[in-house]
Amino acid sequence: MHGNVMLVTGGSRGIGAATAHLAAQAGYAVLVNYAADARAADAVVADIRRRGGTAESVRADVSIEADVEAMFAAADAMGRLRVLVNNAGVFDQPSPVAEMSLARIERNFRINVFGSFLCAGAAIRRMAVSRGGAGGAIVNLTSAAAKLGAGGENVDYAATKGAVDSFTVGLAREVAADGIRVTAVRPGIIDTEIHASGGRPDRVADMTPNLPMRRPGTAEEVARAILWLASDDAAYSTGAILDVSGGRSILP
Ligand code: NAP
Repeated sequence: MHGNVMLVTGGSRGIGAATAHLAAQAGYAVLVNYAADARAADAVVADIRRRGGTAESVRADVSIEADVEAMFAAADAMGRLRVLVNNAGVFDQPSPVAEMSLARIERNFRINVFGSFLCAGAAIRRMAVSRGGAGGAIVNLTSAAAKLGAGGENVDYAATKGAVDSFTVGLAREVAADGIRVTAVRPGIIDTEIHASGGRPDRVADMTPNLPMRRPGTAEEVARAILWLASDDAAYSTGAILDVSGGRSILP
């Protein structure tokens, strides 16, 4: 048992890995979740341990209930769960809505939305003061796409993040009196592997000249916002969605 635990879903790379590193530096025992790439998750864990931190990895598909239960049991074994970061997410190749298969749309919603619901439910059952918990924080990952809509590219993905926005606000009100704060970070274009996994390895470079700051964000810039929202410095913030988009998500 190590104390205060932060569970980062999709913590094996990108924004999740940066969050895991900062969480360890902040003194959390970190549970690094991944779906497929055990080697990447284990590298994050090894790096944290090399720097004197505490971390474990756990394989779980956030869209599968049994996996989620097993993942939270692994968190329980590390200490008291204080923070859940609902970071795991997927992004597909560009497609018009008229050509999208149900399987594709379902996969986006199962992982980006249903997974966040399942993980939040498991976290609340542990954190809620009315259930004997000590309170805590849930930080969701939404996207500038929720505002922009991603027409002609990934309307399915954008719609999942619109759902995450509503989920954040509604859940924040639902559990506010139970000592749990629910917030979200809204990244813009962040330089991670998600763009290549959506079939567009050059997407960040292609978009950079048109970004308001003429540069993409870094995973660490997003992770810093996540750590702040999770911390007691944000003690009176709930239902808040913090843009970390370099101006991209400001609507005209
Ligand atoms: P990434 O580099 O593609 O990493 C995704 C992570 O999610 C990986 O650790 C992956 O693990 C994990 N994952 C995927 N499916 C999973 C599942 N079913 N169950 C558990 N873990 C799963 O992504 P990222 O760019 O860091 O994005 C992180 C979050 O920020 C996502 O929610 C994304 O939508 C959001 N976001 C990103 C950007 C951006 O520009 N990068 C912008 C806005 C919002 P495996 O490798 O093992 O599959």
